Amino acid sequence: MSSFDESDAFEAASVPLSQRAMMGRAAPYLDELNPAQRAAVEALDGPVLMLAGAGTGKTKALTARIAHLLNTGRARPNEILAVTFTNKAAREMKDRVGRLMGQTVEGMPWLGTFHAVCVRLLRRHAELVGLKSNFTILDTDDQIRLLKQLLVAANIDDKRWPARQLAGIIDQWKNRAWTPDKVPSGEGSAFNSMGVELYAQYQARLKVLNAVDFGDLLLHVVTIFQTHQDVLEQYQRWFKYILVDEYQDTNVAQYLWLRLLAGGHKNICCVGDDDQSIYGWRGAEVGNILRFEKDFPGAVVVRLEQNYRSTPHILKAASGVIAGNTGRLGKDLWTEVEAGEKVRLIGHWDGEEEARWIGEEIEAMQTGTRGMRAFSLDDMAILVRASHQMRAFEDRFLTIGLPYRVIGGPRFYERLEIRDAMAYFRVSVSPDDDLAFERIINTPKRGVGDKALQTIQRMARDNGVSLVNGAALAVEQGALSGKAKTEVARLIGQLSIWGRAAGDDAQSHIELAEQILEESGYTAMWQNDKTPEAPGRLENLKELVKALESFENLQGFLEHVALIMDNEQDDGGAKVSIMTLHGAKGLEFPAVFLPGWEDGLFPSQRSMDESGLKGLEEERRLAYVGITRAEELCTISFAANRRVYGQWQSALPSRFIDELPEEHVDVLTPPGLYGGGYGAAAPSGFGSNIEDKVASANVYNSPGWKRLQKRSGQRGTSQPSEARNITIDMAASSSFTAGDRVFHTKFGYGTILGIEGDKLDIEFERAGAKKVVSKFVVPADRAGDDIPF
Ligand code: ATP
Ligand code: MG
Repeated sequence: MSSFDESDAFEAASVPLSQRAMMGRAAPYLDELNPAQRAAVEALDGPVLMLAGAGTGKTKALTARIAHLLNTGRARPNEILAVTFTNKAAREMKDRVGRLMGQTVEGMPWLGTFHAVCVRLLRRHAELVGLKSNFTILDTDDQIRLLKQLLVAANIDDKRWPARQLAGIIDQWKNRAWTPDKVPSGEGSAFNSMGVELYAQYQARLKVLNAVDFGDLLLHVVTIFQTHQDVLEQYQRWFKYILVDEYQDTNVAQYLWLRLLAGGHKNICCVGDDDQSIYGWRGAEVGNILRFEKDFPGAVVVRLEQNYRSTPHILKAASGVIAGNTGRLGKDLWTEVEAGEKVRLIGHWDGEEEARWIGEEIEAMQTGTRGMRAFSLDDMAILVRASHQMRAFEDRFLTIGLPYRVIGGPRFYERLEIRDAMAYFRVSVSPDDDLAFERIINTPKRGVGDKALQTIQRMARDNGVSLVNGAALAVEQGALSGKAKTEVARLIGQLSIWGRAAGDDAQSHIELAEQILEESGYTAMWQNDKTPEAPGRLENLKELVKALESFENLQGFLEHVALIMDNEQDDGGAKVSIMTLHGAKGLEFPAVFLPGWEDGLFPSQRSMDESGLKGLEEERRLAYVGITRAEELCTISFAANRRVYGQWQSALPSRFIDELPEEHVDVLTPPGLYGGGYGAAAPSGFGSNIEDKVASANVYNSPGWKRLQKRSGQRGTSQPSEARNITIDMAASSSFTAGDRVFHTKFGYGTILGIEGDKLDIEFERAGAKKVVSKFVVPADRAGDDIPF
């Protein structure tokens, strides 16, 4: 057992002189707080709960409390345990404390995420749970591999009972702090009644490997505290004060861990908001925060109601939505901030147009638009429900050269499943691409182990050929056997068929891409995968196929991706942030875009299917989190159509849109009906076939679209008959000729450079070159006339 005060975290050094000299000095950070916050900061001893709505200064008060503990000499930096949920939040908290103290805060080793703090604790006491202090932390892939070995050993068919599903079950048990012996008998039927036994085997195997998975970090520490009273008491004494942000999202294991640590002095301060509990699907229990006063009798409970983040319109819009949930504590938020802009709502034709519009809007907002101030790119964020939504924005921003960063996850083309699928495309187009071939030869599993791969590599090297050809030789010459032989032979055959199709202009590259993903078994691999991430990966694959639509062939697409991947160094300049709603918790931005508010996407169909009303309410809390991230400007959008596998699917606006209180919402005119950019925005081939027309008619007749029209009251959006006109007109060919001078309501005057069916290439005098549909322009000498739509 490592000695207790060896580590830097526990240096028993006395308070440094420099710090002592600062103690008891004026506390300017207190002046920045309102009386309620101040009460929470100054109630230093005993339990404190701050349960309050978004943007009311919970995190601010929490950091001020840390500064106050240090400033008053109540605790040294390494005696304070402060936990939050993300690394980003932890970093920010450390910086904020530093700013409040007017000096960099050295040595707060126990300020971090639950996981980071637990790694530290577990390293010191690993032997108490049968590990060595240099244990390794497995990633998901390693974890799955290990579970598969166990399934093989137990003669369990991985196809029927996938390892990933077992991993998900074990994870949920760990979130509840159940070691194998504590899994309740009611769970006995899990994983075909083999779950508990396999869990026990898995834990035993991890010990032999001196390894832990993510869930173990908390579980082991809780076990240590529960079984070694002496160790627990040491820490209860050491951590003089405990602070927790986002307490509403703690799971059972985290909750137990905190209760054990705070069990002595009970100097625990938790802050959170029941309306922002968004991790129920990962085992978070909102009940933890609601039970706080029971767990810690005599707690000082502080409610904050003044919001300092957002304008009244934003706040009221958010309150209007969350009011739809039942069983809330309910809070009245108010602000002194002036009214500002209403929440903006805009409906788009399709997802691509939504991305295009947001791109244009962000560009315009940098210099100020629609009478608003200018926003820096750093001030703007796009928050999406599902990570696959990021693709359209990333592609668009790369095309127009708008700098962006993806927070909390890889960029779209860096995702595992996207890299795998791209490798299939690459090796189909260029059979010499050895790296791509190596990536896919055993994904999905084809029985090609390390030995078979070495054989293929040797074959290729000896004959001076590519790996694909090396593999073909290996099959021919009998160097492979069994499953590897038949499967590799099949793959080579498929690659040659796909390669021919890729070179055939008559063949649709979109269909080919789908064919490759299907026939290779890659899609099926994720369909059979029962982990929580699998559905997201399948959606990303669909999104990848959608991305192909903007290119003529696979080759062109592959070049595009190669170029953008090459172009990603961070120059430290300002950037728009793109992240999921989950990742945005606790953050704030002057301007926020919330795209994709369509039923099924948001609220997410999966969440509703799996958890019914509970799921819907969690989605609604996510909507509340999203809106309340905005300080000045919140723009919600939806698309009337999404294209899935080349097929239009009409989408209904999210039910949350109708929950927005009308008086706080400005409906922006959809660009299509306004004439600005609709033509430019229409996907290629748009308006040229019946299906598209039907789709467009559906949009205008859909209840959501009608609601939007009713609210907007804009010219040209109120009559379905006019909508039909648009559809018909769009197919009509142009009566203009190149060289004509024309006028467009949004872009102004310009000259036609070229004509393609009903689309005109126009060089606008102010707006530059654009492609627009002819019906949206009139001859320049008729600029004053009412444009006929
Ligand atoms: P969330 O629920 O979203 O996590 P929160 O309650 O943690 O929100 P903070 O992030 O602490 O809120 O504060 C929101 C914003 O209001 C921050 O910009 C913060 O600096 C500011 N703020 C908080 N309290 C005050 C105050 N008393 N005076 C002025 N500004 C304040
Ligand atoms: Mg906060």
